[in-house]
Amino acid sequence: MTQDADCEKCEELLQAYLDRDLTAEEVLVAEGHLEDCDYCRRRYRFEAHLRRFIRISASERMPAGLMAKLAQLRGPTVDGL
Ligand SMILES: [Zn+2]
Repeated sequence: MTQDADCEKCEELLQAYLDRDLTAEEVLVAEGHLEDCDYCRRRYRFEAHLRRFIRISASERMPAGLMAKLAQLRGPTVDGL
């Protein structure tokens, strides 16, 4: 699998997609590409998880031990991409 212009475009759209900040047309582009592209789909899933952790940590004060555990969990996930 090669990374092409579509992937670059998709990466551009990804953050806004996660923010639900895209036009309907751009959503179609992003979703269409995520359907076809394993690489971008993994990226998307990773980013989505990351955001959930960030949201949790922003809304609640996480115990230091839990933060360390999350950081540990994050490592293998990144390597597995
Ligand atoms: Zn892609």
